[in-house]
Amino acid sequence: MITRMSSLFLRTLREDPADAEVPSHRLLVRAGYVRRVAPGGYSWLPLGMRVLRNVERVVREEMDAIGAQEIQFPALLPREPYEATGRWTEYGPSLFRLKDRKGADYLLGPTHEELFALTVKGEYSSYKDYPVILYQIQTKYRDEERPRAGILRGREFLMKDSYSFDLDDAGLERSYQAHRAAYIRIFERLGLKYVIVSATSGAMGGSASEEFLAESDTGEDTFVRSTGSAYAANVEAVTTPAPAAQSVEDKPAAQVHHTPNTPTIQTLVDFLNAANLGRTFSAGDTLKNVMVKVRQPGATDWELLGVGLPGDREVDMKRLEASLYPAEVALLDEADFTANPFLVKGYIGPEALGANGVRYLVDPRVVPGTAWVTGANKLDHHVVDLVCGRDFTPDGTIEAAEVREGDPSPDGTGTLVAARGIEVGHIFQLGRKFADVFGLDALGPDGKPIRITMGSYGIGVSRVVAAVAEQHHDDLGLVWPRSIAPADVHVVIAGKDEALRSGAEQLAADLDAAGLTVLLDDRTASPGVKFADAELIGVPTIVVVGRGLAKGLVEVKDRLSGERTEVPVEQAVAHLT
Ligand code: ATP
Ligand code: MG
Ligand code: MG
Ligand code: MG
Repeated sequence: MITRMSSLFLRTLREDPADAEVPSHRLLVRAGYVRRVAPGGYSWLPLGMRVLRNVERVVREEMDAIGAQEIQFPALLPREPYEATGRWTEYGPSLFRLKDRKGADYLLGPTHEELFALTVKGEYSSYKDYPVILYQIQTKYRDEERPRAGILRGREFLMKDSYSFDLDDAGLERSYQAHRAAYIRIFERLGLKYVIVSATSGAMGGSASEEFLAESDTGEDTFVRSTGSAYAANVEAVTTPAPAAQSVEDKPAAQVHHTPNTPTIQTLVDFLNAANLGRTFSAGDTLKNVMVKVRQPGATDWELLGVGLPGDREVDMKRLEASLYPAEVALLDEADFTANPFLVKGYIGPEALGANGVRYLVDPRVVPGTAWVTGANKLDHHVVDLVCGRDFTPDGTIEAAEVREGDPSPDGTGTLVAARGIEVGHIFQLGRKFADVFGLDALGPDGKPIRITMGSYGIGVSRVVAAVAEQHHDDLGLVWPRSIAPADVHVVIAGKDEALRSGAEQLAADLDAAGLTVLLDDRTASPGVKFADAELIGVPTIVVVGRGLAKGLVEVKDRLSGERTEVPVEQAVAHLT
């Protein structure tokens, strides 16, 4: 394809837009890729459309390659499914809500878990139908508090969202890993330098979650990486190991401490101290926010017991002894979390202040309606590794765990250093939260229903365009990776001679015939203006057809390295393919 700039709907700007804070915003506007319409609302002009479509193509190819099937939902959605999951209210002011002429409530979809779950429920019924992965590339709406940096944080933006549906946890793990691998291929093809960080699951719920962050000083996410290994983590997800404390589930199962039957105050104190909860207990102490399990004499099953949970009084050892008598007491271990997905691992209680490495184990259902695990309580789902101050506020105000450069890496390999990134992708193991709400079951081989487990996986397709621009530009303009550049070759006619024009037209036709896309600058503008625009637009190869043509030569310039080569015009196609 040949695109002639004389008729291309493009006007480049010499000046930076006044509101542009970051290079991608500045350059994408100046080079005529996007134009602002409203805060967080941008139109895509022809060159921008090409890059956006190229990103979509890479994403589609890799999604199709893992067997995902493309579908498309409306962005305008009825309230009911989001009401059912609680997200109609949970989204708060970020959700665009509107009414139709009959007064019915609608929303503009911020993400589509509800609709995908309902659609699969509508079409599939047997275990033989599963697993399935569905995706869409679709416009999303979020009334962001601070729309920012052009298309980097829009209120209307393009997202690839996919959803996996599996019969069991092992299936979900496979679907998750397939997405993870696909994302690695996608971001590599897009030429992005990125890290994968473990993430807390935020308002989504679910247990395993990772973010893909494109490294960039202008990014809003801070992550830390270890100097000694590939370990990287979102700062929010990192816990500072508490001095002299050890997290409960780091202990091998054999070391889980039990009290003997018929605990006395002293055996309870010994048990608690052996559990290493981050403080030392004595007989006169009170207990708060501790989850244990108890087994009555002669019983085989353990029962969960919250001690001094919010809303309850603190429990002193005497009362604890009386209430536990004559049961045996033990700490929870990983198996308990597997068996009870509603259990929350988090840090609670003022005693966790300054000792965020200590894990207290709490069942939010024990205290329904309390607010100390905000979000988790409302959603009633399984959340791991809550962070104080961010996910919940126990007993008043608490500072978020701070990770500082220079802290030891949690994997013990080195020291943490901070860096910034742009979240370009996010993968979640949602589990059965949405399937539970909608009763998404498959009929099993034995005629019994199997509850489906889901994953959800997003890529900010429009944000990626800006993230790539952040990483690939210089003082003169954009420098696109070949995979998504708006054209393969930018041919500049540097002069007014008819011979130059026809020579360039011929070259463009030959390049086109060889399968390359060509941007041909056939405008009447001066060579200086054309060169500046070529640098600004950022096509990876620029061919100048100028004075040298009289000697049969054109100049090939590599936009990235700046390297120029004189090439005989008849060898130009071979040189460029
Ligand atoms: P952020 O932390 O940047 O607000 P998010 O965690 O809210 O993003 P997700 O719900 O995980 O976003 O959505 C999946 C992907 O959609 C994100 O990884 C990001 O690439 C993209 N995305 C989210 N919000 C926006 C936005 N306002 N503008 C452009 N892309 C966005
Ligand atoms: Mg967000
Ligand atoms: Mg995020
Ligand atoms: Mg996210």
